[in-house]
Amino acid sequence: MKVQVDRDACEANGVCVGLVPEVFELDDDDDLHILAGDVPAGLLPTVQLAVRSCPKAALRLAEQAAQAEQAAQAEQVGTPHDDTRT
Ligand code: SF4
Repeated sequence: MKVQVDRDACEANGVCVGLVPEVFELDDDDDLHILAGDVPAGLLPTVQLAVRSCPKAALRLAEQAAQAEQAAQAEQVGTPHDDTRT
């Protein structure tokens, strides 16, 4: 599962960094960086807390979006277009 940040909404207050410094980091320019591409299972509950705690609602977990994308891809693969028939 991935966590994503809406950089336009993030105000760099560091709430998420304080909760999960293993995953979130603010640089000297107050830009938020996601350190873990995939959230380790052991950190997931704390990341979920950070998502809920963000005062700007700038964080979201991407599992649902990724699953929807995979389902759409599987659907395309499962229903090939056969343009060879006339
Ligand atoms: S808690 Fe939200 S607003 Fe604060 S730094 Fe993290 S993403 Fe940005």
